[in-house]
Amino acid sequence: MNELTGLQVYKFGGASVKDAAAIYNLAQIVKHHADGPLVAVVSAMGKTTNALETLFQLAFEGKDYTTELQALRDFHLCVAAELASPPFSLSTQPAPRVLTELLTDLTDQLATVGPGDYDRQYDQVVSFGELLATVIVAEALGAQWLDCRPLIRTDRNWREGRVDWPTTERSIRSVLPPLLAKGTVVTQGFLGGTATGVTTTLGREGSDYTAAIFAYCLRAECVTIWKDVAGLLNADPKIFPDTVRYPEISYRESIEMAYYGASVIHPKTIKPLAERRIPLRVKSFVDPTAEGTIIHDCQHPALAPAFIRKTDQCLISFESKDFAFISEENLEVIFGALAQARLKINVMQNSAISFSVCTDFSERRVAKLLEILSEQFAIHYNSGLMLFTIKNYDAASVAQLTAGKKLLLEQRTRGTFQFVCE
Ligand code: ASP
Ligand code: MG
Repeated sequence: MNELTGLQVYKFGGASVKDAAAIYNLAQIVKHHADGPLVAVVSAMGKTTNALETLFQLAFEGKDYTTELQALRDFHLCVAAELASPPFSLSTQPAPRVLTELLTDLTDQLATVGPGDYDRQYDQVVSFGELLATVIVAEALGAQWLDCRPLIRTDRNWREGRVDWPTTERSIRSVLPPLLAKGTVVTQGFLGGTATGVTTTLGREGSDYTAAIFAYCLRAECVTIWKDVAGLLNADPKIFPDTVRYPEISYRESIEMAYYGASVIHPKTIKPLAERRIPLRVKSFVDPTAEGTIIHDCQHPALAPAFIRKTDQCLISFESKDFAFISEENLEVIFGALAQARLKINVMQNSAISFSVCTDFSERRVAKLLEILSEQFAIHYNSGLMLFTIKNYDAASVAQLTAGKKLLLEQRTRGTFQFVCE
């Protein structure tokens, strides 16, 4: 393929497309900031993914979901209609045909939900958020709508599809350039497809990762994630007061922050960009001319401590039933079972006769773990916990964050302080 010089990839998350006014703002950003070829990766509108999760759950449990489905339909149709009328008047079609078709497909899809593979069915339903949003945004931008599912090839690891890079790169590099020669392309974040064309998702908040996939495959000049915050901050301003912005940060630092749960960037995003030295900008869609943050190959002095909170955590402790020490053999069995139950370890700690892990809580997955291991181990778990991480901590930041909290597990390494609490 001929190289696309100056290709930009923009990622717009849920908040930046939450209603007609937000989409209008997005259109202004594209108009004033993008020059040259552009791929715009868009997430589901506002809290649509959560709404789809609820719908799916109701359908899976055989419960009535008509009210929730109607609300979701009305919301999307209403935004599309608003965008076609003053003061926005962006599109000419108040109800694009693809939009109404998708809504019918969603209704049909929900009707098929029933006993069977939960995670596979989840992907078939929850993926509609991005499909609907991108149709509306493409229409508003007068841009080309691209279904990314045939391009981003994943395995069948539902809800956390693993990307087949060579196939994906080949597809993207053959399909995108001719489209980009005609103008902007709008596509979905978060979605992929298997070799047989079944929809997969890449993990919650996975749209950042999609932007990185496109950028990597097309060797983009830069990726910009447009957020409702001023850039990459040392803490989530919705949780912590007095945040500071990092103007510049290295790939490595940002990978670690994302790994510990900083919600600004999906953890898988940085690696492909770092590999091809593609800078990632995090900018505010509220104040698009402000500097934001640039994540790239750089050296910088020690950063201000970063505070990261993960909620809905579960602390699981395993004890060998005969008071035997926790051996490597035992650990191997425990790790195997955690992987099988698809529980990811956020922190772990070993003592003589017990081993503890902190994971994201999922009732279904913990039940599976207990089923596999409870014969061999005495297992206790507490849910509803929080995991705090301070990266680049110092005594003052530790004292400030732990004050008044009951710590159930605590761990520190040279650069990182972590604790689990109620
Ligand atoms: N819409 C998906 C989610 O809310 C993906 C994303 O926003 O990145 O998880
Ligand atoms: Mg989102």
